[in-house]
Amino acid sequence: MGQAIVILGGGTGGVVAANVLRQLVPPAHTITVIDRRENHQFQASFPLVLIGHRRAEDVVRPLSALREKGIEFVQAEITGVDLQTRQVHTNVGTLAYDYLIISLGAERHPQSVPGFKEAVFDAHSLRHLQQLAAELPRFHRGRIVLFISHLPFSGTVGPYEMVLLLSDFFHRQKRRHVQLTLVTPEPYLLSAAGPRLGPRFQDLCLQQGIRVVTQARVLYLDHRTGHLVLDGGIYIPGDMFIGVPSHRGPTILRKTILSQDGGWLKAHPYTLATAVPKVFAIGDAVGIRLPVTGAWLPKAGVFAHYQAEVVARNIALELAGKPPRFRFTGKAVGASLITSLGRAMPLSIRAYQPTGPRLSLLPPLRLGYAAKVAFEQYWLNRWF
Ligand SMILES: Cc1cc2nc3c(=O)[nH]c(=O)nc-3n(C[C@H](O)[C@H](O)[C@H](O)COP(=O)(O)OP(=O)(O)OC[C@H]3O[C@@H](n4cnc5c(N)ncnc54)[C@H](O)[C@@H]3O)c2cc1C
Repeated sequence: MGQAIVILGGGTGGVVAANVLRQLVPPAHTITVIDRRENHQFQASFPLVLIGHRRAEDVVRPLSALREKGIEFVQAEITGVDLQTRQVHTNVGTLAYDYLIISLGAERHPQSVPGFKEAVFDAHSLRHLQQLAAELPRFHRGRIVLFISHLPFSGTVGPYEMVLLLSDFFHRQKRRHVQLTLVTPEPYLLSAAGPRLGPRFQDLCLQQGIRVVTQARVLYLDHRTGHLVLDGGIYIPGDMFIGVPSHRGPTILRKTILSQDGGWLKAHPYTLATAVPKVFAIGDAVGIRLPVTGAWLPKAGVFAHYQAEVVARNIALELAGKPPRFRFTGKAVGASLITSLGRAMPLSIRAYQPTGPRLSLLPPLRLGYAAKVAFEQYWLNRWF
């Protein structure tokens, strides 16, 4: 008899899981993706939207396009999951499942920094990035402050790409009277890269003239005086504020057995299985502690992608009566960090090394940028 596979979230993990499953399992098994949004958003291109190098419509794809591949798509707000009766509740009805893949991403909570909602451009909102792209050409002098509200945050390289692209943008326009400041709670920039590479990357930002404030606990934005207020009585003045909002695990699962500290979901680091049989959790919504450092696995699309492949392939094996054998190894290759329009630092990571996570970061290269753009095009065409 056909099984119902339901996927919560049509972001990176959800879209990969749905496509891979559809290729592998017979049509008798149904695959349904549920998302509140009409469109999938390719967030890795958001920094290019910020500087007007991509339009919003260039980096989204309609989730309804999945239907042409034999994948059901339901546009709805997911309001809860009943793990006992195996049902997903939404604002348009209830769906029963046999297998459940949760890929709900990291939930944004900008309001955790008072003043954010009133006067900060949200670095993770496509609408705000479009507004910024329209405003930047008119910004001739003043101080732009980009801040990370809280750790962990989604998009491991996102804020650094944004600040470096802004620096490049103003440099090209010869606007020397624009001052950029990056504020982060991390001990050094790109802390996911570790104490050897992170400070080296920070030097690169300082050489670009970017001011860096680390170990910052952001308290609130005083939008009347134009100051970002940090713990310890530190005031960062600004004329424009761009913020990476606080992130948390999915609220709708907070009171379930699936949730752990910070609301992040608990899943097996190699199989992404949860404590409940036939329920898997992947991507940014999951909290996986790394060996030695105890840091969270960075919340990156490459990981959501690989985890989705593992879960989809193992479910397909199980449905074919075979034992699951695929494992997520914490490795990611082929990623890169854009440093300017035309250059990016290729990076790879082995997060699960028993001696602690290992990351390699090459200098800014044209090839790195070309690889990033090629991946963007692959992504937007491959899954839709
Ligand atoms: C600016 C930026 C730059 C980035 N750059 C990179 C990069 O260069 N490389 C990289 O690897 N990663 C990058 N990332 C990170 C990457 O985008 C995420 O790690 C990845 O998208 C996580 O995938 P996911 O499936 O877990 O969640 P998401 O892709 O966030 O998808 C979650 C989906 O669930 C839906 N959803 C959530 N709750 C509900 C609900 N209650 N009801 C209905 N729908 C719901 C959302 O609408 C969303 O579509 C970047 C992120 C940002 C923000």
